[in-house]
Amino acid sequence: MTLSRMKVRTICPFCGSGCGMYAIAEEGKIRIERRREHPVAEGVLCPKGTFSRKIVYHEKRVKKPLIRRGSKFEETTRKEALKIVAERIKEAMKDDPTRVGFFASAKITNEENYLIQKLARAVVKTNNVDHCVRLCHAPSAAGLIMTVGSGAMTNPIGDVVNAKTVLVAGYNPFNTHPAVFRRMMKAKRNGTKFIFIDPMKSKSSRLADIHLQPYPGTDVVLLNAMAKLIIDQGRVDEEFVKSRTVGYEEYVKGLEKYTLDYAEKVTGVPKDLIYKATELYATNKPSVIYRGMGITQHVSGTQNVIALAMLALLTGNIGKPGTGLCPARGQSNVQGACDMGCMPNMFPGYKKVNEENAKYYAEKRGVDYVPSEPGLVTREMIDAASEGKIDVLYIVGENPVISEPNNLSVREKLEKAPFVVVQDILMTETAELADVVLPAATRLEKEGSMTNTERRVQYFFKALDPLYEAKSDFHIIVELAKLLGADRNYTTVGQVTDEIANVVPIYRGITYDVLTKNEFGVARPYDPETGKSETILYAERFKTPDGKARFILPKEILPEDLIPNDEYPFLLISFRLLEHRNSGAMTHIIPELHRLSPEPRLVMNPKDAEKLGLKDGQMVTVESRRGKVKLKLKVADEVREGVVAMPYHFAETNVVVPHGFFDEVVKMPNFKGVPVKVYA
Ligand code: SF4
Repeated sequence: MTLSRMKVRTICPFCGSGCGMYAIAEEGKIRIERRREHPVAEGVLCPKGTFSRKIVYHEKRVKKPLIRRGSKFEETTRKEALKIVAERIKEAMKDDPTRVGFFASAKITNEENYLIQKLARAVVKTNNVDHCVRLCHAPSAAGLIMTVGSGAMTNPIGDVVNAKTVLVAGYNPFNTHPAVFRRMMKAKRNGTKFIFIDPMKSKSSRLADIHLQPYPGTDVVLLNAMAKLIIDQGRVDEEFVKSRTVGYEEYVKGLEKYTLDYAEKVTGVPKDLIYKATELYATNKPSVIYRGMGITQHVSGTQNVIALAMLALLTGNIGKPGTGLCPARGQSNVQGACDMGCMPNMFPGYKKVNEENAKYYAEKRGVDYVPSEPGLVTREMIDAASEGKIDVLYIVGENPVISEPNNLSVREKLEKAPFVVVQDILMTETAELADVVLPAATRLEKEGSMTNTERRVQYFFKALDPLYEAKSDFHIIVELAKLLGADRNYTTVGQVTDEIANVVPIYRGITYDVLTKNEFGVARPYDPETGKSETILYAERFKTPDGKARFILPKEILPEDLIPNDEYPFLLISFRLLEHRNSGAMTHIIPELHRLSPEPRLVMNPKDAEKLGLKDGQMVTVESRRGKVKLKLKVADEVREGVVAMPYHFAETNVVVPHGFFDEVVKMPNFKGVPVKVYA
C-alpha cells in the first residue's frame, strides 16, 4: 500500500558523497527534491541522483520471490523461498559452517550490513563474509591501518578549500564524486594549486597546475622518488616526524635507489615535472591528498596507499585543516559496510579476526562463540562454490558476473555452484544464475543509516512501502535469522542502530535517537557526552596502540605478466563515467543516463592510433592473455601513449581483465595495468 503523501529525508543511492535529498511520495508517484540546506549536496544533485527515483518503478525490478526449476524460474512466496534457503544453509552448517558464504553490499544500510555479518558469524559461525570493497578500496583500509591506525578519510570533503595544495592521485572526482569536485573547483577559484597523478586526462585534471602521467603500475616508484626528494631537499617536518612517528630512519635507508633518474625511467614522467610537483606539495602547505581506484586497483594497491601516506607524514600534512589523506569511497555505503565488519578478516570496527576479538564479539552478541579464523574473500567464495567447497552462496545486492575480473569464468563458476541465493532490487546478470531470488526494497522503500566517504553517518526514512513483494534487506535477513534459530528478534531498524552504537567501538554513542535528531547526521567517532564529532582525525594521536604513525617502505610489485611486451604492447586501464556506477545495474536501466553512454569505447592516444592505422569510431579488438572483446575506438589524447582505457561499467572490460593477479595484503584484483594488443 502506498502512503498518501509523504515527504522524507533520504540519501542518493549512488556515490559515497552521500548527498541528502527529499523524496516526496504522492498518489503512488515519487519525486525527488533537492535539499539546499544539506551540507554535502548544497542543493545540487548530479544526473545520477536526479534520476534515481526511476529505479523504483523499473520493469527490471524483482517483483516476486523466484525459485529455479531446471532452466526456468517459478514464482513462489517469500515464506517458501526463505524456508528452502534456511534448510540449505542448515544442511551445509551441519557439515561445516564454512560451507556457507555471504556477499554483503555497499548499497544497503549499516544496519543491514551489520545484520548480515552477524548472521554469518554469530548464527552460521563463519567469517565468509565480504563485499565489493574487495574490488575498490580494500587497500585503502589496509594501508591506512598499517600507517596511521584507521582506514578512512581524515578530513571532511568541505575542508579541501582550506588546502593550498591538493594532490589528486588516480582519481577523477568530476565523474566519481561530483559533490567533491564542486568543492575542488571552489578551492581552485580561491587560488589552491592542484597536482594530478593519473595516466588519463579528464575534466577533473583541467584543474591541474602540474599533471604527472605515469605508466600504470609504477606509482610506488614515483611516490618513493617524491619522498626521497623531500628528504634530500630538507623539506621534512622534523618536529612532526620526531614527536608523532616511528620507523623514520629505516624508511629513509630504503629510499636510496629512488632517484629522479630512476623514477623517470620507470614511470615515463619527466623528472623536472616530478621535481616541481614535489616542491609544490612539500612547500605550499597545507596540502591534502585525494585518491581513488587508480591507486588501489593494482597488485601494489596497498603499497601505493602506504607510499602516499608517507608523503603526508614526512611533511606533517595530517591532523590539521587543509591537510590529510582522503580515500574517496565509491559506492554509497562502502564506508559503512567496511565499518560494520563485512570483511572476512575484520570484525565490526576493524577489529582483526582473532581469538581475543572473537571473544569480545561473542560476549557482546550473547552467543557461545564466533569463529576466530579469517574467512574467504568474494572471489575465493565463488571459486570454492564452483569446486564444491561452499554449498550455499548468499549474494546481497552485488553483481560479480559483471564486476569481477575474467567475468566469463565467474558466470561458469556460478553455474556450477551447488546453491546460489541472490537478494536484490533488480534482475541482474548474477540474479539470472541464482537458484533462489529474493526481491529487495530500494533506498526509497526503506529506512536506516549510511556512512559517507567523510565518515558522516546519516539516517534516512522510507518514502513509500516496498512495491510488489519486495521487502527491505533488514526484514529479509531478520526473517532468515529467525528460521536459522537466532534468538534476538528485531522489530525495528532503530534497535539495530542502537546495538551498533553499543557493540561497535567506532560508532559509540551514534544511536537511533542521535541520528534522527541530527538531520545531517554526525561523523564518527562521536562523543555522546559533548555531542561533538572528530571531523579531522589525528590532531593529537594516531589510532595506533602507541598513538604514533608508522613509516613503512612501500615495495615495488610488478609481476612479469603485467609488463607490456612486443606481443601485448599496451597497458589497459579502466575508468568511471559520470552517468554510470559500478556494474551499471542501476544506471543502464535509467534511459536518461544510459543514452549518454550506451556502449563502451576503447580510448587510444592519436599517436598510437596513427601508428596502427586505426581510425576514430571503427571497431577494434582488444585482447589480453586471458580474453578479448570487440568495441568501438575513441581516438583522443585523454590517455598517454602506450596506455588504452575502457569504462568499467560494461561487461566487456572484465572479459579482458585477467583473474589471478592480486594485491598480496588484501587480495584486491589487479584491474588496472593489463597488457593488451589492439587490432582492427
Ligand atoms: Fe548522488 Fe554522488 Fe551525485 Fe551526490 S554526487 S547526487 S551522492 S551520485
